[in-house]
Amino acid sequence: MGATLENLGLALIQAEGAHVAHNYHPLPVLAHSAEGVWVTDIEGKRYLDLLSAYSALNFGHGHPAILAAAREQLEKLTLTSRAFHNDRLGPFASALSQLCGKDLVLPMNTGAEAVETGIKVARAWGYRTKGIPADAATIIVANGNFHGRTTTIVGFSDDPTAHDDFGPYAPGFVHVPYGDAEAIAAAIDENTAAVLLEPIQGEAGVVVPPDGFLTRVRELCTENNVLFIADEIQSGLGRVGETFACDREGVVPDMYLLGKALGGGIVPLSAVVANEDVLGVIRPGEHGSTFGGNPLAAAVGLRVVEMLASGEFQTRAKALGEHLEAALHPLIGHGVSAVRIAGLWAGVDIDPAFGAGREIAEKLLARGVLVKDTHGQTIRIAPPLTIRATEIDWAVEQLKHVLSA
Ligand SMILES: *Cc1c(COP(=O)(O)O)cnc(C)c1O
Repeated sequence: MGATLENLGLALIQAEGAHVAHNYHPLPVLAHSAEGVWVTDIEGKRYLDLLSAYSALNFGHGHPAILAAAREQLEKLTLTSRAFHNDRLGPFASALSQLCGKDLVLPMNTGAEAVETGIKVARAWGYRTKGIPADAATIIVANGNFHGRTTTIVGFSDDPTAHDDFGPYAPGFVHVPYGDAEAIAAAIDENTAAVLLEPIQGEAGVVVPPDGFLTRVRELCTENNVLFIADEIQSGLGRVGETFACDREGVVPDMYLLGKALGGGIVPLSAVVANEDVLGVIRPGEHGSTFGGNPLAAAVGLRVVEMLASGEFQTRAKALGEHLEAALHPLIGHGVSAVRIAGLWAGVDIDPAFGAGREIAEKLLARGVLVKDTHGQTIRIAPPLTIRATEIDWAVEQLKHVLSA
């Protein structure tokens, strides 16, 4: 029985390899079902999920309250397109704008679409409100950024894997070192429409900027009539122990870009959230998406926002993050060269003498722990915010074993 299932599993992985484009290099595990923080493979083996689909699963797999909202909506109405009104979009947008302290929401599906939307809105604002001459608007971005995979976005990525051979690239982006506010000050000119930043860089390996950086960016943007766009697609919605990573400095950007966890791990759902004076520049017909704001996604998103409004998950992330930090700290100098942590989100740099990030991820997989390496030597730890402290301890034990073997 076990051998048969193992063969079936291998056959399914091979079928994926034979018929799915090779745009990913997955770890050799075949997920079949999941509940909470645990994923089960086809043979019934269980794995603790420390990736959470890059924080899209902040509430864990199959959270009962989110599943209930999805099931209820599934039977009623799933898609209308925005050609018509639907009775879920208004409540979702009103709850989300309240969570963000802003006036308006523009719903899309994926994170990259939210970023593209933010770029379009910033440019239109630049021309129509700020008075930048036609086609001259620029947006300041950071080195080491990750904002998605569309052609415009990869054009301003400095990761060769994301960028190379996909040109020609869209102009209008100016690079500065991440975390360097004075470099932003020097880069701003009269044609600058926006500064687009991740308040913590996720894909780069949970890179936390120096204290005061976001505050200074906010000041610079206000002084120079430039929009501050915070890409909180991975950092937002509870992960860092606050609703948004910008909250760590009490900073309010002009535009929030949200995605990943907004869809509750069930549907793709992203959004741009801003005040009327910014998002109001978009007129009917200028932007949209067939699936954006669909009633199924809106029902799920509304439940997610209601869950975040209680503050319970933010509090959990903060407490569990402190627990994780205390557990990881003793590994520094014993296979780990550095740990960066914000809430329940850690970038763990593995000493190359102990293996590459990918090797560590494979060894952890064999011990029942799911993690993903990034940029060679870093493994990222971002479990569902519903994880227990004892499960964190167990996972760190497994890492200790892998590093001592
Ligand atoms: C994942 C991510 C995106 C892109 O989201 P997709 O849904 O994969 O298109 C954009 N920005 C950040 C910061 C992300 O982490």
